[in-house]
Amino acid sequence: MLDLSRERRRMVDVHLSRRGIHDREILQAMREVPREAFVDPGFEEFAYEDGPLPIAEGQTISQPYIVAFMLEMAGIGPGDQVLEVGTGSGYAAAVMSRIVDHVYTIERHAGLAETARRRFEKLGYRNIEVRTGDGTKGWPEAAPFDAIIVAASGPGAPLALQQQLDVGGRLIIPVGEDPEEQRLLKVTRTGASTYSEEDFGAVRFVPLIGEEGWREDNRIRT
Ligand code: SAM
Repeated sequence: MLDLSRERRRMVDVHLSRRGIHDREILQAMREVPREAFVDPGFEEFAYEDGPLPIAEGQTISQPYIVAFMLEMAGIGPGDQVLEVGTGSGYAAAVMSRIVDHVYTIERHAGLAETARRRFEKLGYRNIEVRTGDGTKGWPEAAPFDAIIVAASGPGAPLALQQQLDVGGRLIIPVGEDPEEQRLLKVTRTGASTYSEEDFGAVRFVPLIGEEGWREDNRIRT
């Protein structure tokens, strides 16, 4: 395999640190996880350009900066119970697995979930559990979560996910109808039935398809 460790360090320095990502654990995790192992064959040389890349099922591996930004927004740290919706390539789950004790991640496409599972095994990342299914319903048996990261954009913050947050827990999710631009929201559970919401600006994500997401192939509420 190509040795891209220099490119990886450069990516962290130029695209993350200098653009305002400060969390040392996130930066360290992104120095460790080989993104080239999560892109499709033939795309390895682009692994450290700061952009999304195509993967199977018409999906994408997210841009490194946005992965780091979402994790920093979520304030994840050691000991946190974390859920990711939208495993995709498995890259973001791999990064989180270097920071927290255990990562739960859900992907609706069985093929993507299986490929991610094999990648984790090959890299020896044993603290990631992958499930195939509709992540808008969360992972009730593993709740409550300190952080839930949704890597696809929905019509709103799914209630099931809000209810699976611990008090103080944070849900990070892109929301909006426009396929070109959505808003990145942070929903914090402030009490048993109270939540606060912050808007972290414009982003562009693939659609969240599911019971509390969009209908397949168009942005119409299910
Ligand atoms: N985190 C991924 C990575 O690091 O490669 C990027 C994820 S990609 C931008 C979004 C993923 O969300 C896609 O793989 C898509 O199939 C998945 N997805 C969309 N709706 C979903 C749902 N309701 N439940 C689970 N996964 C979903």
